Amino acid sequence: MRKAIFPGSFDPITNGHFDIIKRGISLFDEVIVAIGVNAEKKYMFTLEDRKRFIEDTFKDEPKVRVITYTGLTIDLCKKEKAQFILRGLRNPADFEFEKAIAHTNRRLSKIETVFLLTAANTSYISSSIVRDVLRNGGDASPFVPDSVVCKI
Ligand code: ADP
Repeated sequence: MRKAIFPGSFDPITNGHFDIIKRGISLFDEVIVAIGVNAEKKYMFTLEDRKRFIEDTFKDEPKVRVITYTGLTIDLCKKEKAQFILRGLRNPADFEFEKAIAHTNRRLSKIETVFLLTAANTSYISSSIVRDVLRNGGDASPFVPDSVVCKI
């Protein structure tokens, strides 16, 4: 069984994440969306909300599971028996950042990182821009799945 962990903050899930997860489903038997918990980071949405947004979005998709975790992603992979980490790439900055992490993870484990290039129509979307739009009273609905729109 080919399992991939898709790690991130998902604060909140966007249509960019949605695209990567959807395409991940066609490559893997299971995609485990893993919401990282970092005590030093401040989030706009609670962990429960962030988890529920993703679960609601994929409620009809049995190949997607949503979990939360602390610690190293490679340790989570071992625990979940996942052979792959799935990540999305939007631009050169993402690539440089992800390259160092992927090399580090390969040095520390046998886990392969699989990168999917973002879809052209979602490449500019980020959770941080969505949060900015929301903080300033704007309409974030073009950028996020319906499960998020319902809550805001
Ligand atoms: P992190 O805090 O780890 O960057 P994010 O929730 O921002 O968590 O992103 C999780 C993953 O989703 C990363 O691999 C990121 O590159 C990818 N991602 C974020 N936005 C998009 C997008 N618009 N298109 C494709 N991938 C994206």
